[in-house]
Amino acid sequence: MLRLDQIASVREVCDERRRAGQRIGFVPTMGYFHEGHLSLMRRARELSDFVLVSIFVNPLQFGPSEDLARYPRDLEADLAKCQAERVDLVFTPSVEEMYGPGFQSVVEVRELSQGLCGAHRPGHFRGVTTVVTKLLNIVGPCSAVFGEKDFQQLQVVRQMVADLSLPAQVVASPIVREPDGLAMSSRNVFLQPADRAAALCLSRALRAVAERVAREGPLPADEAVAMARRMIEAEPRVQLEYLEARDARMLRPVERVGGGASVLAVAARVGSTRLIDNTRL
Ligand code: AMP
Repeated sequence: MLRLDQIASVREVCDERRRAGQRIGFVPTMGYFHEGHLSLMRRARELSDFVLVSIFVNPLQFGPSEDLARYPRDLEADLAKCQAERVDLVFTPSVEEMYGPGFQSVVEVRELSQGLCGAHRPGHFRGVTTVVTKLLNIVGPCSAVFGEKDFQQLQVVRQMVADLSLPAQVVASPIVREPDGLAMSSRNVFLQPADRAAALCLSRALRAVAERVAREGPLPADEAVAMARRMIEAEPRVQLEYLEARDARMLRPVERVGGGASVLAVAARVGSTRLIDNTRL
């Protein structure tokens, strides 16, 4: 397994692999790996000959009052996990390598970046789309694998890749959960035991609605949201940020949920930790 931290060297290796006829599978991450990240690496392995993982905690996607400084990092453990997943190349650029002095260009997906997480994290998706554009330009033609855990991010990236004709195939990979249902997240490490238990109300509420829709068929969106809201608000340690039913493509509000075309998405604070989760309906 190669580890590189220079843009030019990654480009060189990727060009050479393509010349040799290999398909490149790319998994962009911020590191501190859990099974969710590893599932994306396995998907990339299935789809490609050469698997490249980037680890970069992107300052551009954190707001001034967010958790950039305390975002969990463990490069040695991450490299060992990549090795075990038979990753071919890990790209670990520094902030200076990605954003040189005087950096001033951004990529923005206007409509899709506005609601849900975009409304609560101003500038977040601009940071994501800017770094993902840079990474896709560095890696070149590839299948890029993203988790459905960050559902809005996935749709924003899909839209950007289509709008800007970027030579990447965006591949979605399902949410990986802990055995009790909590969606895996690098930030779960911050949850104190009582918060960890309280956080379960998020996945439980989403699952209860999904099971009801599976049993009874489509529902008015208001009813689905109210049902999940009751379950989450019963948990005093959890502060809801948003809970919304949207269409699964453009993330616009919907009247009814069901039939697989909608998503119920939630963001909440549990203690000092912000968690997100979603389910397709
Ligand atoms: P992050 O390191 O949090 O930026 O995530 C890197 C990639 O892993 C993104 O595409 C995420 O959607 C994906 N990811 C994070 N958590 C999960 C999970 N529990 N299941 C599936 N994918 C995930």
